[in-house]
Amino acid sequence: MNAEKTTDYEIYLHSDHWQRMKKRTIFLDKYKCRACGTAGTCVSDLHTHHINYDNFGKEKAEDLCILCASCHVSEHEAKELVNIL
Ligand SMILES: [Zn+2]
Ligand SMILES: [Zn+2]
Repeated sequence: MNAEKTTDYEIYLHSDHWQRMKKRTIFLDKYKCRACGTAGTCVSDLHTHHINYDNFGKEKAEDLCILCASCHVSEHEAKELVNIL
């Protein structure tokens, strides 16, 4: 991922669409990490993870899931996608 794309991605993370999808995913996953079941006490404990990027920019509920910070890191380490949320 080059610097230009990273910037676009950061802008996207502040978009209304992403903020809405994030809240919706947290609600659908009931404030729990989908991998280990740890419940987040606040939104900042819960990371919204892309299961796939097929619909990037217009994600559907099934393209996203909630992970806690540590599962999120291991998920990306496993996939070697450490720069992508
Ligand atoms: Zn977890
Ligand atoms: Zn992720």
